[in-house]
Amino acid sequence: MVVAMNPDPLESESGFAGLGLRAELLKALSTLGYEEPTPIQQEAIPPLVAGHDLVGQAATGTGKTAAFALPVLQGLTPGGRDSGPAALVLVPTRELAEQVSQAVHRYGRDLGVRVLPVYGGQPIGRQLQALARGVDVVVGTPGRVLDHIERATLRLGDVRTVVLDEADEMLDMGFAEDIEAILAETPDERQTVLFSATMPPRIDSIARRHLRNPVRITMGRKPVAPGDIPLVRQSAYMVARAHRPAALGRILDVEAPTAAIVFCRTREEVDQVTETLNGRGYRAEALHGGMSQDQRDRVMGRLRNGSTELLVATDVAARGLDVEQLTHVINFNVPAAPEAYVHRIGRVGRAGREGSAITLAEPREQRMLKAIERLTGQRITLEKLPTVTDLRARRLELTRTALQASLETDDLERFRVVLDSLTDEFDVENVALAAIKLLHEAAGGDIEEEEIPSPTAPRRERETRPPRGGGQRDRPDDGVTRLFFGIGRRAGLRPQDLVGAIAGESGLSAREIGAIQITDRFSLVEVPEPAADMVIAAMQRSTIRGRRPTVRRERFVR
Ligand code: AMP
Repeated sequence: MVVAMNPDPLESESGFAGLGLRAELLKALSTLGYEEPTPIQQEAIPPLVAGHDLVGQAATGTGKTAAFALPVLQGLTPGGRDSGPAALVLVPTRELAEQVSQAVHRYGRDLGVRVLPVYGGQPIGRQLQALARGVDVVVGTPGRVLDHIERATLRLGDVRTVVLDEADEMLDMGFAEDIEAILAETPDERQTVLFSATMPPRIDSIARRHLRNPVRITMGRKPVAPGDIPLVRQSAYMVARAHRPAALGRILDVEAPTAAIVFCRTREEVDQVTETLNGRGYRAEALHGGMSQDQRDRVMGRLRNGSTELLVATDVAARGLDVEQLTHVINFNVPAAPEAYVHRIGRVGRAGREGSAITLAEPREQRMLKAIERLTGQRITLEKLPTVTDLRARRLELTRTALQASLETDDLERFRVVLDSLTDEFDVENVALAAIKLLHEAAGGDIEEEEIPSPTAPRRERETRPPRGGGQRDRPDDGVTRLFFGIGRRAGLRPQDLVGAIAGESGLSAREIGAIQITDRFSLVEVPEPAADMVIAAMQRSTIRGRRPTVRRERFVR
């Protein structure tokens, strides 16, 4: 195997320092194993730190959370304790409120930042106590934030930065008026930041009314020359975050690469994945920027002499690495920018050789996959994860191949004495079967594994949603079922009531809930077909705005 490396692939290790971030934040990022800013962070952080307003088109997976959270933390005054929150982040869903507030907490640990997620469905008492004690950053859904403003438990007079995260999603969920009302409570001279995966005119109009000379950032627009995109087999698997390590092991079992690089985002992830793969019997080695040059050289040496078959690496550590026999590039998660994807997969399929690029993605990262397809002009085929049955069949196949190779090439005569002594008593076929069993078990056998559940269908594209409020009632897309709720505007129903009730009672995540139409007397809500019965059952046990409406599948009248 030929391996070449440029002398110092880690030159850009200080990437975050170059963005002017304070020492406490740099330390937190280094502890988390972030090696370099993602493109959106590279572009957004300097203007945000300088106090500009900003509109960013960025989907989940681009690192947008850190892009706004780090500048917010940079601007906090240490010890500025008694005033109200200095920053308010508005997000569409409770999951996102929790995620963003965890991220702010992790990045701001050394600053002693006090961050509070506020969303409906959570007991308000706990939020009230925390607010009374004082918080620096509030991350909330618009409905609950407005609730607190109305109760005078949240005062926004000291807010210096407001972030509207996933703004398109918030508008889709009917939060436009709430957002306007909240912004009106904040000082005029605040900094306003808007992130949205799509930029429909409604978002643009919010930006025009509430932002001052915003810097605009769009991802994935750098053209790529067709010659730069290798012709390799490109596929993706949809896997929930928690199942990714198991899914990776399974894919590798079936793909059986000669040599592969598994790309991870952070050093932490590199270490975890390496451990998982070694536990599964692979010879995997970590390669990341936290390692000394010496350690990295040793890893490369083992890859060169074939004693390692899998390299688990961050982008930075793998930069400049050229491995001739590489058959597979595997993205443990969707890269933070389409350009990074092209760069990674360029490592296989060189000089007309065959190669595979495999990406593990969460349903909410589907948008990133589409952006990559647009950039490369090539399809990424969605594949089904190998099942336990597939794996068993594959392992038996490997045992068969090993036996066949032995029959064709090994000198087996010296074992005849064993065979002869056994065939006095046993049938020769049974002896062979026992031998196969022992070989199979020695090679790992049938590891006891659970099926990996496929994640629920991602929501449809927002732009194609039908209009709300009595718009034309077309049929929903395949895989999506429309439910009829016997409650509507006359009962004071708002979209967020439906989303809150469904998400709270059925366990369906708010992101999986599709278009909502509310008319005077009834409402229609799209949910993934596999979840429809479960949602109906859950709604029969619960109330919405104090009522227990009829909930059933919508009947189409032709
Ligand atoms: P987001 O797009 O904000 O949802 O972030 C996607 C994921 O990328 C999160 O798990 C972050 O922890 C991770 N992440 C964000 N920025 C970086 C970075 N510069 N390096 C490595 N991982 C990152």
